[in-house]
Amino acid sequence: MSGIMKKLRNETERAKFEAGRALRLQREQGKLGQLQSQKKEHLHALGEAVWEMYQAGQVTDARLVAICTQIKDTQQDVATQEQIIEAIKQELPPEPPTCPQCGRDVTSSDAFCPGCGTTLAGNNPISSAVSSLPVPALSQNCPQCHKPVRSGAAFCPACGARITG
Ligand SMILES: [Zn+2]
Ligand SMILES: [Zn+2]
Repeated sequence: MSGIMKKLRNETERAKFEAGRALRLQREQGKLGQLQSQKKEHLHALGEAVWEMYQAGQVTDARLVAICTQIKDTQQDVATQEQIIEAIKQELPPEPPTCPQCGRDVTSSDAFCPGCGTTLAGNNPISSAVSSLPVPALSQNCPQCHKPVRSGAAFCPACGARITG
């Protein structure tokens, strides 16, 4: 056999060896991963068992008691956190403002109720000047102050004048 042929054969053998070794390594590493997660599961089960024993008053070892106390505290935090989430879920959008006199929906910028002309407490007439920009559903202007008035309003929301027609 020539030197070149021998070298070629050696290289082929080495490549076969390397491929086989990589395959075996992969297989054995997979088994290792399974064993490690098995160990974690057993440790978890051990923890659950100790936690149950602690709740039954059967744990006296200081180190175990310390860990169980932490679990207890965390459980309380979990309950509090769940209540916070539940409260956020139950939140309702703010009620639109209504006239205290007739119950009609008003806007926060109305100084007077467009339905009954009642002066709306808490609503600043000055702020209505800011909001007197064109708004949809406006069909007429106040005969007194000439501000836009919503369709169907009996009174001007800005000055309280009675709207006729
Ligand atoms: Zn009203
Ligand atoms: Zn007006």
